Amino acid sequence: METEIGEVDHQGKPVTGLDVGVKTLAVLSDGTAFENPRAFYRLEKLLTRAQRQMARKQKGSKRGQKARLRVQHIHKRIADLRANATHRVSSYVTKNYAGVAIEDLNVAGMLKNHHLAKSMTDANFQELHRQLKYKGQWYGCEVRQVDMFFPSSKLCSVCGRINDNLTLADREWVCECGAHHNRDVNAAINLAKRCWPGVDGHCSLRVKRSKAPDEARTTFVGRSKKGDLPNLAILSGLVNQVP
Ligand SMILES: [Zn+2]
Repeated sequence: METEIGEVDHQGKPVTGLDVGVKTLAVLSDGTAFENPRAFYRLEKLLTRAQRQMARKQKGSKRGQKARLRVQHIHKRIADLRANATHRVSSYVTKNYAGVAIEDLNVAGMLKNHHLAKSMTDANFQELHRQLKYKGQWYGCEVRQVDMFFPSSKLCSVCGRINDNLTLADREWVCECGAHHNRDVNAAINLAKRCWPGVDGHCSLRVKRSKAPDEARTTFVGRSKKGDLPNLAILSGLVNQVP
């Protein structure tokens, strides 16, 4: 399905949806998955231990200072690893797709962070989105953000039923219509379809010209062509909507 508005030239590449996660950093609607680096989990254990040790030391003492430096050092290494991982995803996506649909950060944070330090995971999602937006400008990939009440995980991307019984633990599920879903891929497909109505299940349809549907309340960010800068006011408004 093609709609009017000809300002965005998608150059014949497909569009995609991107679902962020904790274990798997990102999953695209065509099934491409980006794992978090293994070293990261090792460092998290080290961090927990170092924090415990720090808590036991007397504040201001030499040993306490040493323990604090160690915690800071591990934090820095984790941050570096995270940044590398997000750079891998953002470069791949913006170079290989004409557009990417992403989830509202607040929802991603609220739903998926229940067992990790929330601030750390949030920072990671935020960094990934930030990179997608500026690299989208570089490479001509349009970033669209889906409104926060869109049930990307619970919606069947085949028939449109909502599965209210879906829990966070369900990595795969079967819809009443018979469709068998990988949770993350299904969510990514829904995001892509929300932003580019008419794309097929794997978003392989080449969208030449498109605009987001009004009812989707989608924010346009990172329009790739000449001088049309992203609306940063709208963007930051969205990100800061919920405390
Ligand atoms: Zn279904």
